Amino acid sequence: MRMSASHERPYSGEMPTPAILNARQQASPKLSKTSKMPGKSWSQSAWETCPGARKDDGSPVSACSFCYALTGAYQFPGTIAARKHNESDWQKNGWVRAMVKEIKKMTHFRWFDSGDINSPILARKIWAVILETPNTQHWLPTRSYKDATILKQLRAIENLPNVVVRYSSDSREGGHLDSTLYPNNSTIIQSKDDFIPQKGVALCRSGERAGKCGSCRACWSKSVRTVSYIHHGNKVGEKKFEKDLIVV
Ligand code: SF4
Repeated sequence: MRMSASHERPYSGEMPTPAILNARQQASPKLSKTSKMPGKSWSQSAWETCPGARKDDGSPVSACSFCYALTGAYQFPGTIAARKHNESDWQKNGWVRAMVKEIKKMTHFRWFDSGDINSPILARKIWAVILETPNTQHWLPTRSYKDATILKQLRAIENLPNVVVRYSSDSREGGHLDSTLYPNNSTIIQSKDDFIPQKGVALCRSGERAGKCGSCRACWSKSVRTVSYIHHGNKVGEKKFEKDLIVV
């Protein structure tokens, strides 16, 4: 595993291989419960695990420059620690089995209320978790489709009946991804007035319900092609974007 620069250490010849680590350590995933959604979610650190959040020059794409997961309650020490824990935990022995055990009785599950898929191996493991939890509806929002090796795995996930892979546009001005390539997707608009009602397009109205989904399940619905979220949150300070991408 190649970690961010601050975690790197020179190879000593004695560092354990992933296989040895797996044999020694059992996975213990930490799920989070946000007040907004009907179920729990599994997350990693925002920005450090988000390969699709970066432009070629390393700066954040428009949508991510206002990332809610880099400010506010997401900066509480316990919240940060749980996401850090998950970054290495998914690589341990039995992670798929442990996740299935946690999730299988939930009706709805959301992946990544912060962070994203930073490895095709993680994507394959997520596929296995979704396959093994057929009674749970999964919502997987992602911007990692820009990595061809991860996109290949996302296509396999997309074909499962109990998941919506919701491909995120980088736009904050309502720009949509091509739905022939990305059949379920999302975008951000600046205000409710910018929403143009169309078949297959939903407006997120959680703001009218004190930030809660209530009975809405549009994000989990394969028949909803595009979900439009109304912009919220503040511009994130540049320092938050200095950390390197964790590549696995
Ligand atoms: S569109 Fe519906 S399901 Fe999706 S976040 Fe908004 S309220 Fe929740």
